[in-house]
Amino acid sequence: MTGQHKRVFIRTYGCQMNVYDSDRMADVLRPLGYALADAPEQADLVVLNTCHIREHASEKVYSELGRLRDVKTERRAEGRDLTIAVAGCVAQAEGEEIVRRQPAVDIVVGPQAYHRLPELLAEAERKAAILRHGKRRPGAGVLDTDFPAESKFDHLPSPQGVRAGSAFLSIQEGCDKFCTFCVVPYTRGAEYSRPVEAVLAEARQLAAAGAIELTLLGQNVNAYHGEAADGATWSLGRLLRALAEIEGIARLRYTTSHPRDMDADLIAAHGDIPQLMPYLHLPVQSGSDRILEAMNRRHGRDLFLSLVDRLRNARPDLALSSDFIVGFPGETDADFDDTMRLVEQVGFASAFSFKYSRRPGTPGAALSGQVPEAVKSARLAALQALLGQQARDFNVSKAGTTVPVLFAEPGRKPGQIIGKTPWLQSVYAEGNLRLIGHIVDVELTEGHPNSLAGRIVTHAHEVAA
Ligand code: SAM
Ligand code: SF4
Repeated sequence: MTGQHKRVFIRTYGCQMNVYDSDRMADVLRPLGYALADAPEQADLVVLNTCHIREHASEKVYSELGRLRDVKTERRAEGRDLTIAVAGCVAQAEGEEIVRRQPAVDIVVGPQAYHRLPELLAEAERKAAILRHGKRRPGAGVLDTDFPAESKFDHLPSPQGVRAGSAFLSIQEGCDKFCTFCVVPYTRGAEYSRPVEAVLAEARQLAAAGAIELTLLGQNVNAYHGEAADGATWSLGRLLRALAEIEGIARLRYTTSHPRDMDADLIAAHGDIPQLMPYLHLPVQSGSDRILEAMNRRHGRDLFLSLVDRLRNARPDLALSSDFIVGFPGETDADFDDTMRLVEQVGFASAFSFKYSRRPGTPGAALSGQVPEAVKSARLAALQALLGQQARDFNVSKAGTTVPVLFAEPGRKPGQIIGKTPWLQSVYAEGNLRLIGHIVDVELTEGHPNSLAGRIVTHAHEVAA
C-alpha cells in the first residue's frame, strides 16, 4: 500500500494525551501512504480520537458520527468509500456499543492499541470488500480495546510531532487512584511509566527535530517511576534534571499532576532547573475536606495549601493552575464556600472548572445527594467569575515587563503572531512569521482576561534561521 495517496482526517477531543496520541496515529498511518487531510470531506479515513471524561464530551462524538455517516452514504453513491474509526476513551469505554449505535463505524480502537491500526484497517477493508461484492454480510465493525501486556510504545514509530519548536512527550499513562468521579482508571487502565532510556531517546529525537520546548504528559505525570538502565527507579524530578541536560531544550513543562505525588525532589526541581517553566497545573477539585474525602482524592485542603507554600518558596514566581468540580454528590453551600475560600487564598493564574458529570460505572454515579443542575450552574458561574478575575489580574500584573515568548502560530489579524510566556499566557504581537518556533523577548503592553498584547524587542534578523 506504501506510496498510495490516501488521506486521513483526525479529530481530537479532550486532553493533551489525546493530542499526543493523534500525532502517534498519524505516525503509524504515514508508512501506509496516508497524508493528513484538513477536513473529513477530503479524507479516505476519518479517526475521531475521543474523550469520555464528561457526558457532554461523549455525546459530541455521536453527533459527529451522524454527520460522518451522511458523508459515507454520499461517497458510496459515487462508488467510493469513507472508513470511519473511533479511537480514544469513548472507544475503550463503550466498545461494541458504538457500532450498535452507529453502524457506519468501521473500526473501534482503544488507547492502548493504536500500533495495531494497520491490521485493523486491513481487516476493515476486507469486510468492506465482502459487502461491496454482496457475498454475505460481514460482522459489524473491527474492534480492539485490549490492554495488551506489551506497551504500545514499543511498537510505535519515531515521533514526528514537533510543532513550532514545541512537542509533547508521553512518559506515563493510566491511573491507579480511582477518584470516585473519574473514568480514567477504567478507560486508560493501570498506571504505567515508560522506561527512562525510552523517554530520553525520544526527547533527544524531538530536540534533533527542532523541539526547544517539551511538555511531559501523563494522566498522573508526577507519579512517574520509570526504570533506568541500571535498574534504578527514577522519579519525575530526576527525569526532569536529565532532560534539562539535552542540548537545545530551553523549556520543560509537565502535566497533569496529583497533589499526593508532589514529592520534595520535584518541588526542589522547580527551584533548581532553569528550563522548568514557572507554571504548574495542580488539580485540587474542591476546597472542602468532606468532599475531597468523598471524591477519594487522598489529600485534604491543608496538604494542598502546604504544597502551594513549599512550591512558592522553591520558585517564588510560580503561576498555579488547577481543576475544579462543582456539584459533586453531597456538596452543600458550606462545602462550596470552602472551595471559594481556597481559591481566594491561593490565587490562580488560570483554571479549568466543571459541573460534576455523572459517569456510568464510577462510584460517584451511585451516590445519593446528587446536586440539582440549577445549583451546579449557579456555583460554576460564581467560581468562574472569581477564577476569571484572578486570571485577568495575573495577566495585568505582567504588563510592563519584558519576557521571553515562544511564538507558536500566526494570529487572526495579518502580521500578527501568537506565542506563550513562561507562565503559559497567550501573547499576541506584530511580528515576522519567521519568529514562529523561536523564543523572543517581548515587552508586554496590555493584560486582558485571556491573553496579553506585546511588542517584540528582539528583531527577526537576530533570530537564527
Ligand atoms: N489526573 C488529573 C487529576 O488528578 O486531577 C485529572 C485528569 S482528568 C482527565 C481532568 C479533569 O477532568 C479532572 O481534574 C476533573 O476536574 C475533571 N473531571 C474528571 N471527571 C469528571 C466528572 N465526572 N465530572 C466533571 N469533571 C470531571
Ligand atoms: Fe482521574 Fe483521579 Fe486518576 Fe486524576 S487521579 S486521572 S482525577 S482517577
